[in-house]
Amino acid sequence: MHSLLQIVDALATSPTAKQIAIAWRGMSNLVIPNPCVLCAWDDAVQHQLCSRCTQLLKDQHAQVIQAQDFADALPLNMVTGLALPVFASSYYTPEMSKLLLRFKDHQRIKAAGFLRPIVYRTLQHAAETMGYPYYRLMPIPASGASMRKRGYNPVDAMLPRTIPPMLLYDGATLKTRWHLLSRSSHAGTGAQSRRDSSRKKFRVALRYRRPAEPVILVDDVLTTGATLAAATRTLESDGFDVVGAVVVSTVTPRN
Ligand SMILES: [Zn+2]
Repeated sequence: MHSLLQIVDALATSPTAKQIAIAWRGMSNLVIPNPCVLCAWDDAVQHQLCSRCTQLLKDQHAQVIQAQDFADALPLNMVTGLALPVFASSYYTPEMSKLLLRFKDHQRIKAAGFLRPIVYRTLQHAAETMGYPYYRLMPIPASGASMRKRGYNPVDAMLPRTIPPMLLYDGATLKTRWHLLSRSSHAGTGAQSRRDSSRKKFRVALRYRRPAEPVILVDDVLTTGATLAAATRTLESDGFDVVGAVVVSTVTPRN
């Protein structure tokens, strides 16, 4: 069994297999000059998505989800003991997962155009629900390695060009920490070591603007909430008040 897997693996990664894949892609591109990011079957009509996939995804974004009960590592409010409110545009469905992966790792950046109006609506809903007059909107920054690989922060790319008027965009305050030994930060696999490394994940820029408005964080996917917790801890230790977060997708609660 083991050797069979090795043979399959060797075949799949062989130069011949790669050439076939390239040739196949070339051929399908002749038939479909602009294939849909999701199904790769139909012609994309807008935002690199075909009309069928667009409708499918739209149905999955029908309403904003309150997701803070789904993630157990979110920061708790010191006074109320309640988890940080998180507003999600959609569940992390197979289609959403595929769209976000394509968008993040295959340079299909135009697919962000599909997400932006949805993110806008979620931001507006979050701002209105929490009831403050103004907020500062801070995207979770990409790591240095990810920025070098992609050349952009996917979370930033998903934000609408114009955000709701009660939000003030601030992409300069929250930064990732420099990691001289970035490999070692992934050495531990236990929950505790992950928590330890995520605690040191972010920093506040040296020349940040003084904390004033309450902060809404933005990220792509909510899984455990550890990233939002790490960002919140870093910001709050510098005097910021993090009141909520907006994510494009949330995983479903574990039973
Ligand atoms: Zn499609």
